[in-house]
Amino acid sequence: MIRLEHIGIAVKDLEDSNELFEKMLGRPHYKTEEVASEHVKTSFFKIGESKVELLEATAPESAIAKYVEKRGEGLHHIAFEVEDIYAEMERLRKEGFRLLNEEPKRGADNKLVCFVHPKSANGVLLELCQEIKPGQ
Ligand code: ZN
Repeated sequence: MIRLEHIGIAVKDLEDSNELFEKMLGRPHYKTEEVASEHVKTSFFKIGESKVELLEATAPESAIAKYVEKRGEGLHHIAFEVEDIYAEMERLRKEGFRLLNEEPKRGADNKLVCFVHPKSANGVLLELCQEIKPGQ
């Protein structure tokens, strides 16, 4: 794993939270993006080499909707950037970690992503992400 890429925070209302985080972090978010396949709207703030990703559900079946309903708003996942997501998934599988998806999928921010089940990671939902290079 290369670095902490971002921290994902589940929110109820992206616009309200954008305002709150702009006040908190002292800078505006630099982009918003909808990931239709995951039923989420996201926005990103840059903090040095890392980012904060805010996530709002766009449909009741969204994992974010379920999370907010069960636990309320808050820290949802931690994402590490990797060089080769396929190799890293294989390595973690061999180490006994439970992956939530068999194949990497397209996430926000031009990334291939894979999630590691919190039950196999001390309660932390872990995201692996790799920048999608042209042709991938
Ligand atoms: Zn994320």
